[in-house]
Amino acid sequence: MTVRDLLSELNPNQAEAAAHYEGPALVIAGAGSGKTRTLIYRIAHLIQAHQVDAGQILAVTFTNKAAAEMRERASHLIPGSERLWMSTFHSAGVRILRAYGEYIGLKRGFVIYDDDDQLDILKEIMGSIPGIGPDTHPRVLRSIIDKAKSNLRSPNDLDKWPEPYISGLPRDAAAEAFRRYETRKKAQNAIDFGDLITETVRLFQEVPGVLAKVQDRARFIHVDEYQDTNKAQYELTRLLASRDKNLLVVGDPDQSIYKFRGADIQNILDFQKDYTGAKVYMLQHNYRSSARVLGLANKLIENNTERLEKTLLAVKEDGMPVMFHRANDHRGEGDFVAEWVTRLHAEGQPFSKMAVLYRTNAQSRVIEESMRRVSIPAKIVGGVGFYDRREIRDILAYARLSINPVDDVALRRIIGRPKRGIGDTALEKMLTWAQINGTSLLTACANAESILERGASKPVEFAKLMEAFSEAADNYSPASFLKFLIESSGYLDLLRQEGQEGQVRLENLEELVNAAEEWSRENEGGIAEFLDDAALLSSVDDMRTKIENKDQPEDAVTLMTMHNAKGLEFPSVFIVGVEEGLLPSRNSLNEQGGIEEERRLFYVGITRAMDRLFLSAAQNRMQYGQTKSAEDSRFLEELGDGFDSIDPYGRVIDYKQKTWRDFRPVGPQTAPSAVKNTSPLTSEMAYRGGEKVKHPKFGEGQVLAVAGVGDKQEVTVHFASAGTKKLIVKFANLSKA
Ligand code: ATP
Ligand code: MG
Repeated sequence: MTVRDLLSELNPNQAEAAAHYEGPALVIAGAGSGKTRTLIYRIAHLIQAHQVDAGQILAVTFTNKAAAEMRERASHLIPGSERLWMSTFHSAGVRILRAYGEYIGLKRGFVIYDDDDQLDILKEIMGSIPGIGPDTHPRVLRSIIDKAKSNLRSPNDLDKWPEPYISGLPRDAAAEAFRRYETRKKAQNAIDFGDLITETVRLFQEVPGVLAKVQDRARFIHVDEYQDTNKAQYELTRLLASRDKNLLVVGDPDQSIYKFRGADIQNILDFQKDYTGAKVYMLQHNYRSSARVLGLANKLIENNTERLEKTLLAVKEDGMPVMFHRANDHRGEGDFVAEWVTRLHAEGQPFSKMAVLYRTNAQSRVIEESMRRVSIPAKIVGGVGFYDRREIRDILAYARLSINPVDDVALRRIIGRPKRGIGDTALEKMLTWAQINGTSLLTACANAESILERGASKPVEFAKLMEAFSEAADNYSPASFLKFLIESSGYLDLLRQEGQEGQVRLENLEELVNAAEEWSRENEGGIAEFLDDAALLSSVDDMRTKIENKDQPEDAVTLMTMHNAKGLEFPSVFIVGVEEGLLPSRNSLNEQGGIEEERRLFYVGITRAMDRLFLSAAQNRMQYGQTKSAEDSRFLEELGDGFDSIDPYGRVIDYKQKTWRDFRPVGPQTAPSAVKNTSPLTSEMAYRGGEKVKHPKFGEGQVLAVAGVGDKQEVTVHFASAGTKKLIVKFANLSKA
């Protein structure tokens, strides 16, 4: 077999970076320049040219999806690629803590708490902390805690905070909440997402022997999207790389979009300072986007003042014009997207090659509805997902409590589902008892006879049931165990009594069992390992979207936030809601550097597009149930004449026009020439300005304006006999004259 000449599949700059062997290296380059590609080829090259063992290579990315994609790409390049360690920071943390957590006092079988579990604990403790009023939302505390963790700060650090208030709370109160939260969480043998990184850092700091063991497994370390690492992730990487110094990171400071989660752009800018002798590689050619799209992106990002200037040249041709459409309202915007998706599909582009990107998850609903009206298959990535549904969380809580009997959060979630005749007062009494005795709620249930005067048999029964579940946990496959829980906990009967809604929930639970079954085909391990993976599913995860879209065909348009789209690419991209207050977001206006961060986000969005890019804004948008007028985003101004402004039919109009509704009648001569580079109109788009039509009653007339799409399409026609009339096409019985 001939050895594949890997480096010849890269351009000279990429090849040079991919051939980097030992020592620290930084690849810094703009979007679509092949950073991720170079990283993967570098791994292949290490193995092929330097005989590095695949089992000593680590590559870290930010999402499960990116990690899966990396694994997939590597499998085509590298024999034995299964032995590569490719994962997210968080799953690397889980893996290390599962193996060595006991060295820093983590008990076996610890569970991972998600955002909602965090809130449950905070709700419990915050009432008794002076300085935290009843109107404080636990989310504020959660965000303080998460942020402290991404910066490797402890409760004591918050005590010494230089300002008296942190996010509007007195610093002592914030510190105290943090402290009690940690204690509660620890008592329940749980760790949260932030801990996955911070506890691993602590483990490495406190137990050098463990660090050395992990370093043996990670002699060559790679980090993609390095610009979005926070302090904790930075430190984790630094410790891992401290012995062999073989760290290669790739990133683009212009795509740093996670400041709100503690990401620090300085990490990439300081790389050469932190790693002496680091080689720096720059890539200057963009292979992804058409020259027009890239030109727009470059033009936008130049408006940022705090940036490292880079060259990014297009490899591709000009391509199709970028389109901007200003709709009357959010419905109109959704219809515009649906209309163009239909056209592109009619031209032969599969739905899966198109993506609609937005600033906030809340915007997805309207787009999804517009798609549904015309039967376009769409899948929403992120948002309230499958694993956030009540019944799924309930059954997973049963599973968690089975393997970790001290998980009080899980117990409180399920003790009343189904109802077991254990009232709030009884629960409170048992809780107090548990706190006094330093034990768990489940132990309190088992001892209910010495705590409650009446009704002690119910908690005791519940404790027995859970004991049976705990015993079963190890003996069943994840799927069978979940099925066993659903049936034996009484949950199935509960849903059966809930009629239609219960039926839907039951179907979701069946899907959960399927997911577990599928998981077992690809993974080793039992229910505990399945729970780890379920907890780690990030919003951009395949498994999650697969389940959420079980009724959808594979070929569907992707709907996601710009944050989730990082690193991905699509032939056609729609960016909706390019308005002040959305992009840039309202909140960003009050934050230092907020606008620049939003501009980077828009830059990320634009650079996802390979061939076609559509931007849109609405003139009126619903906010908190009220329709308010919206303004175009300031970023549109910055794009200058880099795009064409169009009406819903693809006709180019003057960008300054208020809306396309204001667009004055198009004369018969000008209409066709105004149609630039657009696909043929679909059948329901039958009328154009200037066209002659005939009405059964009014006779002949000329179309002055067309508005709306589909069933709602409206034409303004001037009839010689009857004057100007507005007609709904669907009902008007018009024909072409
Ligand atoms: P981002 O900043 O968005 O993460 P990136 O710099 O990681 O982008 P890649 O995703 O690696 O860029 O590459 C972008 C696209 O260009 C991919 O489709 C990739 O296959 C293609 N590409 C990159 N380099 C080359 C090359 N030398 N020859 C052909 N195609 C290339
Ligand atoms: Mg990339």
